[in-house]
Amino acid sequence: MNNQPFNEDQKQYLQGYFAGLQQSGDAPPFAGVTAAGALTARPAEASGGNLAAPASDAAEPSELYGTPYKNLSKEEKIKLAENPLDMWNRMVAMAEKDEFAEGEDIFRFKFHGLFNCKPNQDGYMLRCRMPGCCITAAQMDTLADIAETHGGGYAHVTTRGNIQIREIQPRGTIPTLLSLADAGLTSKGSGGDNIRNITCSPLSGVDPRELMDCRPFARAMHHYILNTREFYGLPRKFNIAFDGGGQITIMADTNDIGFFIVEVPEGQDLPAGLYARVEVGGVAGHGHFAKDLGILIRPEQMVAFAAAILRVFVREGNRANRKRARLVYCVEAMSHAAFLEAVKNEIDFDVPDASAALTLPRGPIDRFGHIGFHPQKQEDQHYVGVAMLVGRMSIPQMRAVADIARKYGSGDLRFTVWQNVILTGIKTEDKAAVQAALEAIEYRVETSCATAGLTACTGNTGCKLSQTDTKETAAEIARHLDAALKLRDPLNIVLTGCPNACAQHVCADIGLLGIKTKRDGESIEAYNISVGGGVGAEQGLARDFAKAVPRDEVPPLIERMLRVYGREAQEDESFLAYARRVEPDIFRNLVEALEV
Ligand code: SF4
Repeated sequence: MNNQPFNEDQKQYLQGYFAGLQQSGDAPPFAGVTAAGALTARPAEASGGNLAAPASDAAEPSELYGTPYKNLSKEEKIKLAENPLDMWNRMVAMAEKDEFAEGEDIFRFKFHGLFNCKPNQDGYMLRCRMPGCCITAAQMDTLADIAETHGGGYAHVTTRGNIQIREIQPRGTIPTLLSLADAGLTSKGSGGDNIRNITCSPLSGVDPRELMDCRPFARAMHHYILNTREFYGLPRKFNIAFDGGGQITIMADTNDIGFFIVEVPEGQDLPAGLYARVEVGGVAGHGHFAKDLGILIRPEQMVAFAAAILRVFVREGNRANRKRARLVYCVEAMSHAAFLEAVKNEIDFDVPDASAALTLPRGPIDRFGHIGFHPQKQEDQHYVGVAMLVGRMSIPQMRAVADIARKYGSGDLRFTVWQNVILTGIKTEDKAAVQAALEAIEYRVETSCATAGLTACTGNTGCKLSQTDTKETAAEIARHLDAALKLRDPLNIVLTGCPNACAQHVCADIGLLGIKTKRDGESIEAYNISVGGGVGAEQGLARDFAKAVPRDEVPPLIERMLRVYGREAQEDESFLAYARRVEPDIFRNLVEALEV
């Protein structure tokens, strides 16, 4: 038996772990068990992988889930030719020779969270998984070590609340993956046709208004996926979010599956208590918000229910046309009723039809509850949301934020879909010291700065599909707005570099879609600008405001838009409400006529 005392890192980990348990109640629920104690009604069937060719001596299978081989998309054929999970030996060999993945292997490497960014950037981008968008300070230290030793010396928070590290050379890939594993992290399945980072509210366990701490479900889902081979071979990427019903949203209605904890009061057809509403088919970039399935399940059934949906999707999803391969098109093709019936056939508990009307209305959403100091449900404790310009962190900033979390907080860090970080467990007397420590590394905590609501996808420094440098454009917008005016209200400004809309610009107050246009015969970066998008209770797609605005004209144009809004808006009218009340062409005319 090892009688060595705990070292400092171990002590800090245990302190954080037990603090987390205390914050989430007596004991976290054991998530993901069906009425019969299993995650699926057909565990034997569920154990098979579907990535590699079905067992056969034939060189290629005749079909995959009913789609003839010749009709399969290029990516499906790549997966069948070699299961990306079975290429470890070759990955090691490539790392030893310092060779990049080429050709079909570029796609396969994404199953390990490694993206060959050439020619846009020299190196791989590593995308980590962080269930519930939460890591410990010690894990942050490891990520800083990786970024320093193998990466470009910085990292980014993504729009799914996880972290990406860039510019990793081939020889650094295997040491990076091993370091992640040593720290209890993984990047497996974070790219390619896989289920992406599982999100839940970054305020889980500390939100005074949450109905339930969803971190156990996010973790249970994360581990279920990691340990279920068939869930690595979906028709396309897939997003799952758990919304605990608290004071901030996590945009769960833009996910393929969004679970929403709700409360059924006494006097309804169902026993009073907490349930989960289920929405499916969200893909904001395709103009689809998730739709309610018309059922209520018990919270502890959420993981099993998600697994059942995934099994139907694996079987029924479109394997021929990548543009129609998301869950929403599968539901459309089957019909809502047939899809739900198929899902119910995969589980061994009853799911009564139950309208969301049985539930109590959700409390108000604090749109910028993820920025600044706010009281927690725990007495004399606060959390602080920190604005980081489009989620960028240098190595000193990563180490300093981890140190602040350890010194003043609960020792964990939560990342948000708005690309910022939240530290929890800060005592009242430490608030000033925390703010000073954050400002010392140039991080801000006020909602009045433009940085607070700026989000950008990877952009052309790391994504081949991007038409523009979204992150640098976002920085230009922040610099311009912060110098020109003080925001009347917090504002979401979201930039994406292509119609895939990873940052979901169509759900933003002001959304920017990167394109190329011509000026004086030369191709330049430009943006299509839209206004008035929102999620949750404010759900709606943004409307077109202006087309092909050259990049250097975007910051002053947004300033003019905000000046017109400030002049024209009714008392207490938000930018979103104003942008929805006024027709875009009228708004645009006012902006063009503005004299500054
Ligand atoms: Fe790349 Fe397009 Fe996604 Fe931006 S929105 S990261 S450009 S795929």
